[in-house]
Amino acid sequence: MGAGLEGGVSDYMAANLSIALASGDGIGPEIMHATLDLFKAAGVNEAGVDFVPVEMGATVFAQGNSRGMTDDAIKTVENCGILFKGPMETPKGGGGKSINVTARKLWNAYANFRVFKTLPGVETLYSKAGLHIDMSIVRENLEDTYGGVEHRLSNDVIQCKRLISAPGSDDVHRFALQTARKLGLKKVYCGHKANIMKMTDGLFLDRFKAVAKDFPEVETGDVIIDALCMNLVVRPHTYQMIVLPNLQGDIVSDLCAGLVGGLGFAPSANIGRHIAIFEAVHGTAPDIAGKGVANPTSLILSGLMMLRHIQLFRHAALIENALLATLESGIHTGDFGRKDKPPVGTREFTQAIKDRLGQKPTTVAAVPVPDASTPLLERAPRPQGQQTIRTFKNVVTQVVGCDVYLDTPLSPAAVAEEMQRVAQDTPFRLTLISNRGTQVWPTGSVYTECVDYYRIRFELREGVAPGSIGQSRTVALMDRVAEKFVVCSYELLRTFDGVKGFSLAQGQ
Ligand code: NAD
Repeated sequence: MGAGLEGGVSDYMAANLSIALASGDGIGPEIMHATLDLFKAAGVNEAGVDFVPVEMGATVFAQGNSRGMTDDAIKTVENCGILFKGPMETPKGGGGKSINVTARKLWNAYANFRVFKTLPGVETLYSKAGLHIDMSIVRENLEDTYGGVEHRLSNDVIQCKRLISAPGSDDVHRFALQTARKLGLKKVYCGHKANIMKMTDGLFLDRFKAVAKDFPEVETGDVIIDALCMNLVVRPHTYQMIVLPNLQGDIVSDLCAGLVGGLGFAPSANIGRHIAIFEAVHGTAPDIAGKGVANPTSLILSGLMMLRHIQLFRHAALIENALLATLESGIHTGDFGRKDKPPVGTREFTQAIKDRLGQKPTTVAAVPVPDASTPLLERAPRPQGQQTIRTFKNVVTQVVGCDVYLDTPLSPAAVAEEMQRVAQDTPFRLTLISNRGTQVWPTGSVYTECVDYYRIRFELREGVAPGSIGQSRTVALMDRVAEKFVVCSYELLRTFDGVKGFSLAQGQ
């Protein structure tokens, strides 16, 4: 056993393998207690796994800590490399942010891995139709609009920056393909909207194809997100794994949870290079907290992902078979199951699983149980400082212009006149004005309605060689614009190895 928290976190030493444990709020403690009780009965603690409690959640927020986790909790998670957590309340209002999002970002848990399987005793439209679903979603967990980089740009316009990086995409694709290889999956799809967001989703897709070259045994394909959603509803059993950018992955993974019976049956893991977080994806269920009726299945399933992460394959298989046998028998908590069979509470449900340890389900395939397993966590060495991750190096870039964004209620023609005047006697000429992404100058339609926020594009005049001027000339140009207009933002236009690093406007 580890020394726990009493001896101070920094001198905390584990005898074997330690997992930081945050039970959570609301029903969290009830379902966590049930899960740990089950794990103990299956021999997880005897195998050398030690759970170290950490302080996170509502009580920490209540002390005025806006991160919702103590410094000691952070150190313990970093020492252990794994956090097993119950659902946690996100404070309404005030400065408190979602702990789930904070934890993923703080510890760089870049891949969200969620598994969706048809379970016996959990009736859905698909199970009734005899369709067996067994698929997973790997969602990029850190980037996209979830960077939360938002600004009010004018009276009427607010922006959220959508950031997709090559190394961030590489990490998530590599995790997905490595997992597919380990699980022996035949095909992995990349879902995207690269037909519209040609640069951001285009990069996500390009990196998928590039990383896939290292996994020739896994077949790959790509699918546009809207078609994917329809396919998932019409024929979900035809997918095995889909990798998606953050926001699309967030939405599609809840859709998939719906296919197999809801969030209560969809476990979740957040995996990074150094730290992994395993959690139930449902919330704290305040309406039933403390009543002893919560369903622990989602947390148990997330715990099984964790046991497999530390290579306790035998223990995971024993517990999963017992859980399947229990569900198959029709025993259920109040939130699911047959109406003609009365529900049981959390404790009875867990006891039923414990009673079935060693048994196998009969109506669905049992999980093969290996002979023995010993906990093992392979960890990358602790980083010495914050790392910069990179994919492309030695790229030749050249400045070719700038986009200047204005807060103005003027008409496109009036804005154009002013901007042409500003560009006189500079190396730049006005080439485009767009509004909400649609070109409104030099050509446009009277039917295009404009808001008070314009993109003004200046590009090098003919005869001015790319590379002959630096960024400072574009800043000087912006300075001239700012003499008369409010410049809300500015983007440098560059080529990267000769390829334009910016999109065209709709209609250009
Ligand atoms: P919720 O998931 O807590 O509850 C929605 C409904 O599902 C409720 O009727 C609830 O009783 C039921 N339910 C959820 N889990 C259940 C379980 N294990 N067994 C039986 N029934 C269950 O969603 P909410 O009400 O929107 O959120 C409540 C709180 O949880 C909020 O503070 C929210 O911020 C937080 N939350 C946390 C997480 C997380 O920590 N991963 C996720 C979502 C919401």
